[in-house]
Amino acid sequence: MSEIAPIKPISYACPKCKRPLRSNENALQCSDCNQTYLIEGGIPDFLSQVKLAPATSRLAKTMDFVAPIYETRLFVSVLTKLSNVNNGAQLFDRVARFHSETLEGVTGSVLDVACGPATYSRRIVSPSRNVNGIDISMGVLRQGLAYIVRDHIQGVHLARARVEELPFEDGVFDGVICSGSLHLFPDTLLSLREIARVMKPGAPLSVQTFVSGKTVINRFLQNRSWLHTFKLDELQPYLVEAGFEEFRPELDGIVLTFSARKVAPPA
Ligand SMILES: [Zn+2]
Repeated sequence: MSEIAPIKPISYACPKCKRPLRSNENALQCSDCNQTYLIEGGIPDFLSQVKLAPATSRLAKTMDFVAPIYETRLFVSVLTKLSNVNNGAQLFDRVARFHSETLEGVTGSVLDVACGPATYSRRIVSPSRNVNGIDISMGVLRQGLAYIVRDHIQGVHLARARVEELPFEDGVFDGVICSGSLHLFPDTLLSLREIARVMKPGAPLSVQTFVSGKTVINRFLQNRSWLHTFKLDELQPYLVEAGFEEFRPELDGIVLTFSARKVAPPA
């Protein structure tokens, strides 16, 4: 009986200069930038020396706080009720299904941008597919790692990093997912460009975000500078400019899921 060889994990690169890093037990080092990135409890931290924007820093602290309850049915159903989403309690399952469909046939390595407690990383990993999750909140990453250890999940690798400076070399990922966070990135175009940078040509992108609409949560959050709820027709120009094609949106209340594909040069 032949055994499937495990997929080689993607090596981390310096988020500043994108060169490969040297690793030892407790740290990753960039000899070009003379930077050391510590590994804390199995999670490389690429942000310990980075001064986050105040809104981003607040968001990271909020996520640290909600990490233990983030995946509970109660939290999800309250959040989705405020967002006018049908059958809110099943939102995680529906988004996971959307990601799985977009990634159908994709083997190798997938990046989960703003992965939270590895909510979808854990659901899309398979013997033929590794997942690298990154998030700005160490709290959600620790929670994610606890779930991974509890459920004996193989092939999910977590790191603290931000979408604007991903700690990977160019063109290494076979697919990318991003759930519940595109509207929170301060610079949509910069974020999408950086995501495209680490993808292979033709690789699929699968996103869940929110569009603007008349909901309690939107009324509460409107005019907050850190929140960018999209109008549907705003998104496609960003994607095209960042190097994506085949934009396919699906709308449910204010929940938008969409897929796109990194442009591949003509054969
Ligand atoms: Zn460097």
